[in-house]
Amino acid sequence: MPASILNLFFPRNCPVCLNPSDRPDRYICSDCLNRVPLLPPEHDFPAAMHFEGCGRELIHAFKFRQHLFLLEDLTDLLEAAALSCYHVPAVDLVIPMPIPFYRRFLRGYNQSELLARSLAKRISRTCRSDILLRCGFPRQQALLGDRERALNVKGTFRVRDRSRGWLKSRTVLLVDDIRTTGATCDEAVKTLKAAGAARVLPLFLAKAGD
Ligand SMILES: [Zn+2]
Repeated sequence: MPASILNLFFPRNCPVCLNPSDRPDRYICSDCLNRVPLLPPEHDFPAAMHFEGCGRELIHAFKFRQHLFLLEDLTDLLEAAALSCYHVPAVDLVIPMPIPFYRRFLRGYNQSELLARSLAKRISRTCRSDILLRCGFPRQQALLGDRERALNVKGTFRVRDRSRGWLKSRTVLLVDDIRTTGATCDEAVKTLKAAGAARVLPLFLAKAGD
């Protein structure tokens, strides 16, 4: 059935302004897309946007309100950031940042895993969510100071023993939704490298703070 007829029955409304989207196969309308606080192209921080305004609204809708239909829209942003920050052909494997199992259980999904899978498909790479595992019960990072955050995440991750072969001398793209202080990401990078990864390239959908 042509997309225009499908849209009559299933209109794609923009989650930010609630008007019908004017972009084929996408939900965020052009006006709202122009308001997404993208990081400037010359910025070398590996994130698509700032975690504020319209960017924050989109991530909250995707992460906390089950607006999973935003996946392709958000993958567009993530893919653009990957291409501008990294030499993507060098990537061997895409790995999502794991979240604590109870949070995944309550939410029903890991938002970073959905993003990582979608991006991996676009760049024709394998995505594995069963290599880097999260263990323990860390306290919420947002409630802690810098030093406490680093201590809080120590030993948070482990690599599944039988998956080490996947990492040996490989370049890994590590996908996470929001970067706060970076303590969690640093610990994940350290764990992957200790397990044999040659390079770990972190990639975030959004960057919180300055
Ligand atoms: Zn809109």
